[in-house]
Amino acid sequence: MTTMRYQSTREPFGQGQGTVLPVALRRGLAPDGGLYVPRTIPPLTVAPFMAAARAPERLSTTATEVLAPYLSADLPMDEVSRLLEESLDFPVPVTDLDDHTKVLELFHGPTLAFKDVGARVLARLFAATSKPGEDLTILTATSGDTGGAVADAFHGVAGTRVVVLYPKGQVSDRQELQFAGLGGNIHAFAVEGTFDDCQRMVKEALSRTDLRADGNAGLQLTSANSISLGRLLPQVTYYVHAFRQLPTEQRDRVVFVVPSGNFGDLTAGLLAKFSGLPVRRFVAAVNANDVVPEYLASGVFTPRPSVRTLANAMDVGNPSNLERIRYLYREDIAALRRDVIASSHSDEEIRGAIRQVYDRTGRILDPHTAVGWLAWQAYRRQDPDAVGVLLSTAHPAKFHDTIEPILGLEIPVPEALQRALLRPNLSQPMSPTVEALFAVLEDYGK
Ligand SMILES: *Cc1c(COP(=O)(O)O)cnc(C)c1O
Repeated sequence: MTTMRYQSTREPFGQGQGTVLPVALRRGLAPDGGLYVPRTIPPLTVAPFMAAARAPERLSTTATEVLAPYLSADLPMDEVSRLLEESLDFPVPVTDLDDHTKVLELFHGPTLAFKDVGARVLARLFAATSKPGEDLTILTATSGDTGGAVADAFHGVAGTRVVVLYPKGQVSDRQELQFAGLGGNIHAFAVEGTFDDCQRMVKEALSRTDLRADGNAGLQLTSANSISLGRLLPQVTYYVHAFRQLPTEQRDRVVFVVPSGNFGDLTAGLLAKFSGLPVRRFVAAVNANDVVPEYLASGVFTPRPSVRTLANAMDVGNPSNLERIRYLYREDIAALRRDVIASSHSDEEIRGAIRQVYDRTGRILDPHTAVGWLAWQAYRRQDPDAVGVLLSTAHPAKFHDTIEPILGLEIPVPEALQRALLRPNLSQPMSPTVEALFAVLEDYGK
């Protein structure tokens, strides 16, 4: 097996300098400001066409096969399979919505969102690749969902500590308790400012290269945001997992429908396709933040400030993973247009979709999955024999504020969330300056 290396999107395709996984994980961004990508895309060594009846039910089994070429240069395979079993210990079922629509339920992890998949594997990859005595501090700014997934994933992981910054009073009570109630190695700070302040503080702290984990520094700062390679790679695996669960006669017309914000999830799907998974097409579903559909239509990418919508984990006006997608396609927009169809949907449509799907099927979609369903309806008109696999990215109970008034019912709270709601809120206030953040970090360095 060739040794996998990771290079920057700003280097020529497949010809970059390349670095090993532990370094790419700790750096987050490449030194030239690009994003890390695998220098070569390994062909799938798994058999995607095995009979559905024999397909492994557990995501961790397929994940071990899919990720072997990515991880085995830096980690022994028995350790890879153990860490994936530990990380991916929840069900990821594929269920039927109607005759031509399957739902890939990615929300059965501890924080009820698909981000658990990437964050939990990332946490264990940090631990598995750590040097003796390493003491990593992971900085994360959150507007809600990411903080919960990252904090929960790293809770109790040796040699790591997480600092979550979030805008005071601007995340829901349920979201706040998912990260602020954990304690131990998880430290939550309610910043007296906006999400942008939180992001700026994290960026400024990480720009101090003398404090970063890839240097020899005392503090060893790193991040776990959605550009992290360690979150991207695990997401490739559920596309293969879902494909294997489909009946053989449907496998020549599979369309994955991906609710998208920062476009990490879609990038992972495209990696699966480049590895040989025979996907007919991807439908990228976005809310009112429509810079990517606009890019596909016009060929010009114009980032904009994000606007708030009901599907708020997808409120992104400058999706960073588009850089990875353009790299993978080597700027060949015609090829990208053949593989990816995108559409944008308003809050009013989202409300209508939640209502309609519930009335027709009895299933409650969260607002993000509802955007996916809308894009799928739009796409199907031009490709009526397609079989859609709709990625369901969050459990509706996380967004009860939005859904309950639309449907006039109460959504039962799953056990994982019930437990989180019983915890005390341990967060502390912080003023919106990088000095305030450093004052806290210096204490950890001692
Ligand atoms: C983060 C998130 C998305 C968007 O995923 P990207 O990889 O950023 O495109 C969609 N739905 C939910 C619930 C999310 O938390």
